Amino acid sequence: MSTVLPVIQPALNTQPRTHVDFDEKLAAHGIELHAAAVDTLQVNVGKLCNQACKHCHVDASPKRTEVMTRETAEAVIDAVRRFRIPTVDITLIPC
Ligand code: SF4
Repeated sequence: MSTVLPVIQPALNTQPRTHVDFDEKLAAHGIELHAAAVDTLQVNVGKLCNQACKHCHVDASPKRTEVMTRETAEAVIDAVRRFRIPTVDITLIPC
C-alpha cells in the first residue's frame, strides 16, 4: 500500500512573512515566561573532526578549527557546580 504525502506548493504561499516579536506576542496574551531551573547543560567541545558527515548535527569537519579552550572547560565545570545542574550532556568529536 502506498501513501501520497502532501507537497508544499511554494508558489501558492506568496504572502511575505511578517516579523512577529515574541515578547510582544506573549504580552498581548498576558503570558510571562520565567526560567525555573536548568535541568541539562549540553556542551559541545569543538567542531574539529576527521570526518565530514552530511548528517552531522554540529557541522564538524577537518576544516573546522573550533575547539573548547581549557578556560571555557573550567567555566563549564564551575557553572555545573555553582548552579547544581543535574545533567551534563557532552558531545565529543568525533561522535
Ligand atoms: S562529529 Fe560525528 S557526525 Fe560529525 S562529522 Fe564527525 S563523525 Fe561525522
